[in-house]
Amino acid sequence: MPMYQFSCRDCGQGFEKKLRMSQASSQQECPSCGSEHTQKVFGAIAISGVSRSSSPSLPARPVNSPFS
Ligand SMILES: [Zn+2]
Repeated sequence: MPMYQFSCRDCGQGFEKKLRMSQASSQQECPSCGSEHTQKVFGAIAISGVSRSSSPSLPARPVNSPFS
């Protein structure tokens, strides 16, 4: 589930919430002051437990040696 970061316009409190994609566009309540004047800061923060590893960028090439 993606994590979204919000900030409250009333008290300036930043908070994060795990939301479903369908919930992400809805207004979230500030956990600090209860205001609904919050705004999403980032689109989505991918926190899925997968460590960011350098994926192999090279596609698997067919064995096609020019020296044959
Ligand atoms: Zn607030």
